[in-house]
Amino acid sequence: MQKKISVIVPCFNEEAVLPKLFARLGAVAATWQADYEIICVDDGSRDHTWEILQAQNAKDPRWRGLSFARNFGHQTAVSAGLHFASGDAVVVIDADLQDPPEEIARLLAKWREGFEVVFATRKKRKDPLLKTFLAWGFYRLLSKMTPLPMARDAGDFCLLDKKVVAVMKALPERNRYLRGLRTWCGFRQTSVEFDRAERAAGEAQYTFRKSLRLAMDGMFSFSIMPLRLATWLGLAVSAACFVGVMVTLLEKIFAEEFTKLGYPPGPHGVTTMVISILFLGGVQLICLGILGEYIGRIYEEVKGRPLWILRDSTNVVPPEKS
Ligand code: UDP
Ligand code: MG
Repeated sequence: MQKKISVIVPCFNEEAVLPKLFARLGAVAATWQADYEIICVDDGSRDHTWEILQAQNAKDPRWRGLSFARNFGHQTAVSAGLHFASGDAVVVIDADLQDPPEEIARLLAKWREGFEVVFATRKKRKDPLLKTFLAWGFYRLLSKMTPLPMARDAGDFCLLDKKVVAVMKALPERNRYLRGLRTWCGFRQTSVEFDRAERAAGEAQYTFRKSLRLAMDGMFSFSIMPLRLATWLGLAVSAACFVGVMVTLLEKIFAEEFTKLGYPPGPHGVTTMVISILFLGGVQLICLGILGEYIGRIYEEVKGRPLWILRDSTNVVPPEKS
């Protein structure tokens, strides 16, 4: 039986780039010699993304669409796509053509060799310098923070076998750092390198704030190292405080002896107190903040609200009926 490929494309305010995407991805898909479906997930766009998607879905039933009731975020949009995808292999790709659709053929070739997860790592990226540098640092830091073999410089552009998709769909967690979950699943994984292109049109939808949040999600949901750091910080500061306490006490008790030896007790007044209060206060707040990051995430999980709300859909078959 012919294999089926699903492609998931998260779209947030992408009206400028969609016609180019339809042309390029459509042309590439025709060469796969496989049945395919392309699921574009409109992540609560405020422009005409959904109308343009609907027009395409009406023309070609292999193009499918989901529309969110509001902006739930890129990782959630991809999660929804995975939920509705019915292919033997599922490819995740950005709408802005930064991940060249022509590269999907290489992902498929690896899959046909027997790999179940094929992710694309960025050899070069044409992003602003600061973003490139921060991303470089983040991937290296994260791979040090977790025992999982987190790939460096790998984005969400990847291919997942349906076995892996089934595992990812069953994961109940709401904090969906998909690159981490993909690694966590295991299976036979491999990577292919590619040059990340510039955005084909429109503007980046990942603001600095959204990127930072994603990075924090990655760190806090795949590592408890920040908690350990808080413990070690607490111990180190306590040890330093103990030395400070001893010195101050000894100075007080043996003030005369110290003076005779040429080390008169220093002035212990408001300055010392202000410094210690502010320093200790700062350390405590940092540790509380770290705890808060974890507790906040537990709170999000416990509420158990749905991951996304659908406002509309076209050509999509609910997974329970397919
Ligand atoms: N995106 C999304 N929801 C968001 C932000 C982005 O679905 O809240 C989509 C966006 O349409 C694009 C992909 O995620 O297809 C990557 O976004 P972008 O190109 O802005 O990020 P960058 O390439 O700069 O990391
Ligand atoms: Mg982009």
